[in-house]
Amino acid sequence: MKIRLAVDYLQEDSIVDGEGIRTVIWTQGCAHKCPGCHNPGTHSFDDGYLIDIEEVEKMIDNLDGQDGITFSGGDPFYQPKECTILAKYAKKKGLNIWCYTGFTFESLLKMSKNNSDIYDFLKEIDVLIDGPFLLEKKSLDAIFRGSTNQRIIDVNKSLKNKKVLLVDKYYVNNKKKKEHIYI
Ligand code: SF4
Repeated sequence: MKIRLAVDYLQEDSIVDGEGIRTVIWTQGCAHKCPGCHNPGTHSFDDGYLIDIEEVEKMIDNLDGQDGITFSGGDPFYQPKECTILAKYAKKKGLNIWCYTGFTFESLLKMSKNNSDIYDFLKEIDVLIDGPFLLEKKSLDAIFRGSTNQRIIDVNKSLKNKKVLLVDKYYVNNKKKKEHIYI
């Protein structure tokens, strides 16, 4: 049986959904219902469309000039098994993985005790932006995030150290040069 991912759409060349130039997989389905959500069209678990994982892999094969893949939505953690397959595939092709979720890192770890797919997906993510969008904490200065409660987490280090560790430095590709941005 074919494995399929529910998506809203796939987007190449994003420069706002993580470091560098990225392809975004906008997954369909999110139950967080954050007031002021930027993407309410992705909330329904019935909308969007189902795409074969192999078809997304083919798209990844044909990508040009992308630094990585970003899983967003919607909330990708409603489809951890499918996202894990794609994240593993993209990493083999030399792409890094960012992911946005409305769950906190701590709640994902708790959930993973009853659902190993969640932990499997976490392990494939380089950078996780976690937590719901909070209107009262909305900030246009919070780079790569909608509100300041959301954290830019180094997942690998956090899993190893068993506590949340933030990415303290990353590059922003501004076409001509790469510059350090500290957060
Ligand atoms: S988690 Fe993201 S997609 Fe889901 S309601 Fe909140 S802001 Fe919207």
